[in-house]
Amino acid sequence: MKIGIIGAGAAGMMAAATIAENSQGNADVFLIEKNDGIGKKVEITGGGRCNVTTGLRDIKEVLKKYPRGSNFLKFAMHNFSPEDVFKWVSAHGVPLKTEEDMRVFPKSNNGKDITKLFNNIFEEKKVNVLLKHNVAEVGIRNEKFYTKLLDGQNIVFDFLLLTTGGNAYSHTGSTGDGYNFAKAFGHKITQLSPSLHAFTFAEKYVKDLAGISFTNANLKIKGEKTYEFNGPFLFTHKGITGPGVFALSAMAAHEKFNDGKTFFFIDFFPDKKYEDVFEGINHDVLENPKKEFINVFKNFVPKALAEMMCALAEVGKKKCSEISKKDLNKLTELLKNMKFNISGKTPSEEFVTAGGIDLRDINSKTMESKICPNLYFAGEILDIDGFTGGFNLQSAWSTGKLAGESIIKKIK
Ligand SMILES: Cc1cc2nc3c(=O)[nH]c(=O)nc-3n(C[C@H](O)[C@H](O)[C@H](O)COP(=O)(O)OP(=O)(O)OC[C@H]3O[C@@H](n4cnc5c(N)ncnc54)[C@H](O)[C@@H]3O)c2cc1C
Repeated sequence: MKIGIIGAGAAGMMAAATIAENSQGNADVFLIEKNDGIGKKVEITGGGRCNVTTGLRDIKEVLKKYPRGSNFLKFAMHNFSPEDVFKWVSAHGVPLKTEEDMRVFPKSNNGKDITKLFNNIFEEKKVNVLLKHNVAEVGIRNEKFYTKLLDGQNIVFDFLLLTTGGNAYSHTGSTGDGYNFAKAFGHKITQLSPSLHAFTFAEKYVKDLAGISFTNANLKIKGEKTYEFNGPFLFTHKGITGPGVFALSAMAAHEKFNDGKTFFFIDFFPDKKYEDVFEGINHDVLENPKKEFINVFKNFVPKALAEMMCALAEVGKKKCSEISKKDLNKLTELLKNMKFNISGKTPSEEFVTAGGIDLRDINSKTMESKICPNLYFAGEILDIDGFTGGFNLQSAWSTGKLAGESIIKKIK
């Protein structure tokens, strides 16, 4: 049986390895990749270290990290969990470690070790890895799948698995080709939007805050709907980024942000009530009547931010003794509810695509199309996306493994 897998990213590599290692020689696997190497995007995750998966072990908790697709993912995730991925990768000769924030990396801190692992399997098990092969068209004729390459070649398969990824970071090869391939078989594509991205703010003064970070703040987006997340963030020259911001961007992925009516709010003291923050500043003001107010206030937040807040609250170079109740309220409001006007998403720098193949047309227990028998899907091409922290690679490994196992069951 000839099996064609289009796209050698996380999902495609895992599916090919699963079939090659378990099919007892009755499968001829073709892994077709347009790049000159496998797993380009996989290698750059986690800043080049490859954030293989999460260290979380409770699958219920893991599934909560997917704003879209968590219910669909349940079976695949139980079938090949983060713990299974950890064991599988380790057993294939790449020792892993779990860091404090629960992200899992190769002990070597080298993402290329993961692609090397797959290349070793493919070499040993004689998987046909066709690099620099760009698929231009797919279809079905006489119950066989055909795949036309850009160079005019045509390869025919008994089973076809589409693992072409999303359309984020398209210079890595994921240009969204698979969406059109899927449409050719009658599949619907849900709304596609960038996810896991930074935001830009209209306030130009944010550039003076660039580099300031907080390990835990309450971050909120308020437009027609409200989205909220507690986590770390960093001010950039144009706006805001960081794990908490990425999570928020995932929750609100399909929202439009540049309508002038959507705002970003930061609560720098999420564990303190408004009154306690107010009283905290008031206490220090009363204790230090002769001091310039900024010298007291900078104990609450980093100096550049304190100066910015003092300018916004128009307290200028006032002494503590000159600070009124109204001033204190303005400053407390900034600490608890600093407001920015969202001007957009940071373009082309998102990590994943929210949206994809409509999950209603895919069997979640096999990854097979409900529309076209022997056609399978896995990875980011599906309408599944997660937060940062290894969840997107995990869903690609899980769905790729399940697709591979399902194909094996059919050919045995
Ligand atoms: C900068 C960055 C950082 C990330 N960090 C993390 C992280 O830390 N943790 C995490 O879990 N996730 C992370 N992700 C997301 C994660 O990398 C992806 O979700 C995951 O790689 C998706 O796997 P996939 O197999 O579905 O698709 P991909 O890995 O995108 O692979 C798809 C493959 O298909 C190939 N292809 C596409 N069209 C064709 C065609 N027509 N012909 C032939 N080949 C084709 C592409 O070249 C590509 O190699 C990050 C993403 C980016 C961009």
